[in-house]
Amino acid sequence: MKLSRFAMSVTPYEAGEQPKGKRFVKLNTNENPYPPAPECAMALKAFDSDRLKLYPGIAATELREAIAEKEGVDADCVFIGNGSDEVLSLAFRALFDPHGEPVVFPSVTYSFYPVFCAMYGINTETVENEADFTVAVEKLTCGQGVVLANPNAPTSLSVDVKDIELLLSRMGERPVVVDEAYIDFARRTQTAVPLLRRYDNLVVVKTFSKSYSLAGIRCGYMIARPETVAALERVRDCFNSYPVDSVCQAVCTAAIKARDYHEASVQKIIETRDRAMKILRTAGYEVLDSDTNFLLVSGGESDYLKLKERGVLVRWFSAERVRGYTRVTVGSDEETDVYLRALLK
Ligand code: PMP
Repeated sequence: MKLSRFAMSVTPYEAGEQPKGKRFVKLNTNENPYPPAPECAMALKAFDSDRLKLYPGIAATELREAIAEKEGVDADCVFIGNGSDEVLSLAFRALFDPHGEPVVFPSVTYSFYPVFCAMYGINTETVENEADFTVAVEKLTCGQGVVLANPNAPTSLSVDVKDIELLLSRMGERPVVVDEAYIDFARRTQTAVPLLRRYDNLVVVKTFSKSYSLAGIRCGYMIARPETVAALERVRDCFNSYPVDSVCQAVCTAAIKARDYHEASVQKIIETRDRAMKILRTAGYEVLDSDTNFLLVSGGESDYLKLKERGVLVRWFSAERVRGYTRVTVGSDEETDVYLRALLK
């Protein structure tokens, strides 16, 4: 059968392995080692399966209101999607024009951004990260918009929110998408959400997959001005009007309200991260300053293979700038100790 030229030629995003069979200590996709808040299990138990015969509420009112309260914005500033990957994909379609000026992002960043652009025919321009992998935000100001993961992946580094403010003011009406998938683990920077009061060109994207331990439920959201939210809703309704199912809405509403649990879970990961970082540096490894739930550690493919052999799965990227490193997710203390022993022995 004939297939489209696009399907024949596109290079898709490559997610980390989800191994079957052999049991690994799985530290390769930045999942959270701790279970979601007990309130999530309660919401699942209380969920009336009879509701499944109906389509979910498109407005997802309860979840949007819970997110709005947490983020200190109005509910019409919240857009919800099937994972932040979907939110980002709809944002790229709603904010950027194909075949025009490039969309600009750092060369070492989340590798899904160029894939979205390829899918939509959006031109791209990458700005080299500095020698230490930091992003010189002032170099990003050109093109039809900027996309910035803050904290960045896979570097784990963050830029100061003050630099994001400078970027927003320099960009004028051109959009700045700040992907804050890992922001809850950051101690050197803060969320850009409060800047929305002063800058209507700001779009912040967050996820339930990392700090809320809900990667399996697929939910992410955007905080932006109501006009931007309305634009994403129009684009969404060209693909799938109901991407966020009713079970997901109930569970995520419970998760975002369980603030003490969330804070404690994040705190545990930060403590394990900082402990592992110290041990690795003492052992002579280069480890970037992490504001995320993962570490970028010198070593490269040979360490990836050695760890895999020893039952620990981490991520290795073949891209030029990062091929001399592995990215390891911060697991529980026990998992992290297994990793450290496997690497250092
Ligand atoms: N942004 C960044 C920077 C990420 O690393 C990830 C996780 N791969 C995502 C977005 C997407 O997360 P999700 O679709 O699970 O919300």
